[in-house]
Amino acid sequence: MAEHYEEALARADSLIKNTSEDENGCLVTDTTSPRKTRFRGHQLPAYRFVYCVFLRAVIGGDEVIRHRCHNRLCVNPAHLVVGSKADNKRDDWDYWANGVDYDYL
Ligand SMILES: [Zn+2]
Repeated sequence: MAEHYEEALARADSLIKNTSEDENGCLVTDTTSPRKTRFRGHQLPAYRFVYCVFLRAVIGGDEVIRHRCHNRLCVNPAHLVVGSKADNKRDDWDYWANGVDYDYL
């Protein structure tokens, strides 16, 4: 794992360089759905990859990466937080109900 870290970091860096920053500080990819990346034979969403690399996190299969900014195209590690699938649903409900994520303000 450790020997792949440099390679992973370089990949995550290049994913982030290929985004543009919007008015919310989101680093958004120029894709219409969340960008996927392939690393060592696994394909995963770029935001999940970036989160794991920058936060050196190991994430279980039943855990999801939540977007505090509610922009699924965003790969800004500061906007990402790990949670359960249930948390993710609650975020959606909160967002639909209130239009904002109060934690993030
Ligand atoms: Zn964002």
